[in-house]
Amino acid sequence: MQTLLSELKAIVGAAHVLTEGDLSAWTQDWRKRSSGKALAVVHPASTDEVAQVVKACADYLTQYPDSGLSIVPQGGNTGLVVGSTPDDTGRQIVLSLQRLNAVRHIDAANLTLTVEAGCILQTVQEQAEAAGFWFPLSLAAEGSCTIGGNLGTNAGGTQVLRFGNARDLCLGLEVVTPQGDIWPGLSGLRKDNTGYDLKNLYIGAEGTLGIITAATLKLYPQPKAQLTAWAAVPSVEAAVQLLGLAQQHLSASLTGFEMMGQFALSLVARHFANLRVPLYQSSAFCVLLENADAESEAHARAQLEGLLEAALEEGCVTDAVVAENLTQAHNLWQIRESIPLAQALEGLNIKHDISVPVSGMAAFVASTDKLLAQAIAGVRLVNFGHLGDGNLHYNVQAPEGQDAAVFLAEQETRVNSIVFDAVLAHGGSISAEHGVGSLKVDHLTHYKSPVALHTMRAIKQALDPHNLMNPGRVMRLG
Ligand SMILES: Cc1cc2nc3c(=O)[nH]c(=O)nc-3n(C[C@H](O)[C@H](O)[C@H](O)COP(=O)(O)OP(=O)(O)OC[C@H]3O[C@@H](n4cnc5c(N)ncnc54)[C@H](O)[C@@H]3O)c2cc1C
Repeated sequence: MQTLLSELKAIVGAAHVLTEGDLSAWTQDWRKRSSGKALAVVHPASTDEVAQVVKACADYLTQYPDSGLSIVPQGGNTGLVVGSTPDDTGRQIVLSLQRLNAVRHIDAANLTLTVEAGCILQTVQEQAEAAGFWFPLSLAAEGSCTIGGNLGTNAGGTQVLRFGNARDLCLGLEVVTPQGDIWPGLSGLRKDNTGYDLKNLYIGAEGTLGIITAATLKLYPQPKAQLTAWAAVPSVEAAVQLLGLAQQHLSASLTGFEMMGQFALSLVARHFANLRVPLYQSSAFCVLLENADAESEAHARAQLEGLLEAALEEGCVTDAVVAENLTQAHNLWQIRESIPLAQALEGLNIKHDISVPVSGMAAFVASTDKLLAQAIAGVRLVNFGHLGDGNLHYNVQAPEGQDAAVFLAEQETRVNSIVFDAVLAHGGSISAEHGVGSLKVDHLTHYKSPVALHTMRAIKQALDPHNLMNPGRVMRLG
């Protein structure tokens, strides 16, 4: 493989083909559940270089079909399902998009922004804001995840309720195919019915069908005011009732609706002493709501206060606060966004990123909580998520005092079966927004319709017959 490495160095420059030293930033996943070995970490600087790297690898694989060579596309490496790091064969190339980070074009009249795949999400938000617009994709990893990774995983986040997933925010893509060809699909069109929707094949494919090198994204007018409220609710049923009320009172200006369980919030209070977590001690759940209003702050506040009054009257809210200013709003969001970090500090847990219809959420939580409590005495549930989208991070933590690694080794298979069987019984999905990666490949085989799996394999085989792109992720062939 030395000849291939020399060829790659000639394409991107020797300094951008890393083979030695500490490569763990690219070879270990964010949760530190998996550490692989890369043949090289390659950093191209342009779409053309990406295409040349892929072509060189494709040619090598054609010449040496048993070499086991493959490519793992990587953005910010914040994915949670081990999809962006290499396996331990030492035969995978990590193709990092970090150097493709230019903002190519803002089209104000068309409300679009074209950026390269390695742009950090927060930078995209800031660039949109500087031009007087709003790019509403938002998630706790936004300071390090990239647009390419967001589209590769069809990321969700906190604004899906109003704006949809990453897929819904994307109008066009530029992609390097597994043959090293460039598909110039950066259209900013909102209507284009000219055959199969290729863009939507690549979005959510987790790097198994090609490499996204740039995207044209939708922009929105900035709201006049964004107000945040925090409400204590006695149960999941009450949270769902509050969601219905919020949709009636706020309509399209309801942009966020997050539910957080008491134990999840207690972990934030325990591990982030600087954050003051309101109302959680006397309430089973808290809800964070956001009202992004096109009129004025006074209008937004009156709407939110009207909603909370109605909710207090109906009994689905027992207490509530509305942030007085941006700092307070930021602090409330910081509490929500600190939950993933707080649970990581508490020790590894068994993560589930599931969705069920909102109407079935309370029944799902009640029955699954009960099954888990019966199966494992003292089990702790870190329950939080995007209730407005029917998406819950339903994570299972070891009983107090039990070693997290031992708990995972002994209980993960059993816990996954309990949770995923319940998800299926409630008409849900075993992966709402994090994707499949390598962690959930076996679960997908078990829980997805055989017809869907057959169709997915047929697509993969048609587009990437030599299995060059991120093999073993999402599904296994054969
Ligand atoms: C604290 C925290 C909070 C999070 N919150 C959320 C959340 O609310 N919602 C959510 O959906 N996710 C969330 N995530 C998961 C993660 O941040 C997202 O999946 C994110 O979109 C991944 O972006 P990335 O650039 O880090 O991609 P990576 O981790 O580098 O890659 C993820 C996958 O996409 C593929 N990929 C990367 N770049 C490309 C490309 N250019 N072309 C093709 N494929 C590519 C990779 O091969 C891999 O399969 C969270 C993660 C953390 C750590």
